[in-house]
Amino acid sequence: MDRRLRAGHPWIYRGEIADLVGQWTAGDAIEVLDAGGHLLGRGFYNPSTSLACRMLTRLDEPIDQAFFLRRLGAALDYRRSAGLLSDAYRLCWSEADGLPGLVVDRYGPVSVVQCLTLGMRRAEAWVTASLESLFPGGSIYRLDDPSAARIEGFPAERAWRGDPGPSDFSVAEGACRLTVAIGAGQKTGLYLDQRENHALVAAHGEGRRMLDAFSYAGAFACHALLRGASSALLLDSSADALAIAQRNLELNGIRDGALLREANAFHALRRLEADGERFGLIVLDPPPFTRRKEAVEAASRGYKEINLRAARLLEPGGVLATFSCSHHVSPALFEAICREAIGDARRQMRVLATLGQSRDHLVLLAVPETRYLTGLLLQAV
Ligand code: SAH
Repeated sequence: MDRRLRAGHPWIYRGEIADLVGQWTAGDAIEVLDAGGHLLGRGFYNPSTSLACRMLTRLDEPIDQAFFLRRLGAALDYRRSAGLLSDAYRLCWSEADGLPGLVVDRYGPVSVVQCLTLGMRRAEAWVTASLESLFPGGSIYRLDDPSAARIEGFPAERAWRGDPGPSDFSVAEGACRLTVAIGAGQKTGLYLDQRENHALVAAHGEGRRMLDAFSYAGAFACHALLRGASSALLLDSSADALAIAQRNLELNGIRDGALLREANAFHALRRLEADGERFGLIVLDPPPFTRRKEAVEAASRGYKEINLRAARLLEPGGVLATFSCSHHVSPALFEAICREAIGDARRQMRVLATLGQSRDHLVLLAVPETRYLTGLLLQAV
């Protein structure tokens, strides 16, 4: 454990803790000592989970309001200096921003806060006070991930902190406007991790018929239609997602160019192929096919299947943007899966770009798990 921690990884598993000195309880920021009794830092502790401690600091500093303000202030400064501030962006991405277990997304004047550990849940008042100081006059909404809350042992919440803010409004994402319903929808509202890819992929839309499979709120389709795609077919298994997509298409004045279909994409892709349909731009942005290492093989078969279908649906010269957001599927593995699928489809493709999560979802080099979104922009040749 010492070695991994010293190499910068912030996680300590329950079985790695030799001794608990003192009266610590779940959710405390505990002192972490090495085998020789020297302080390695402090981290949030929860003995009821296998990942029992996540390091917050390597210094001998208190974990308090000032600590949270420093960390969140640094997260904001970085994004400001990197030109990443906009109507909707991720302010804090857990380990990569030095606050393991905390996600903060900004939508207009609203900060949406997600606590992924009991320690963060307990530290919420410090998070709230820091956000109030960084964004005076803004509003704060707590939106927990139910499965993380269950594992960590606290009730998942969806509620405003303090005065309620606006809950239904739209934000600009480049040339596109997207509806945000705070507290509803998937993730914290939008897939901010795809923000930069939406525009990048749409640049290949002009004059092309587009297929947005696993569309959610249709961000890829909206951007592509705004860039001159001749039409877009949106596929999603969630009626709620398609209802948001419909609003987004209307908001951007491009409803006429789009067809929305509630369907399982696995079936729909096969059906489209059987019907002899062809597209000039295809996006495959499925949910994670596995969250467990043991299920990588089954997940790989899923990725292979949809990529094979998409390759067959693509016109000559057409562009395929294909993604995986399972962090167990590395960029190398994903590329290998796509190579096999496209080979089986007897197509030849060239790589226009390798894609990843937006730059406000930073990757901490020591923690490969923080790189979860990988993608390829391919062109049929
Ligand atoms: N491309 C979107 C994000 C997609 S998230 C964006 O950039 O905003 C993945 C979507 O896949 C979710 O909306 C989910 O409802 C949908 N989904 C999950 N399983 C599916 C399936 N088998 N067929 C079709 N859609 C599915």
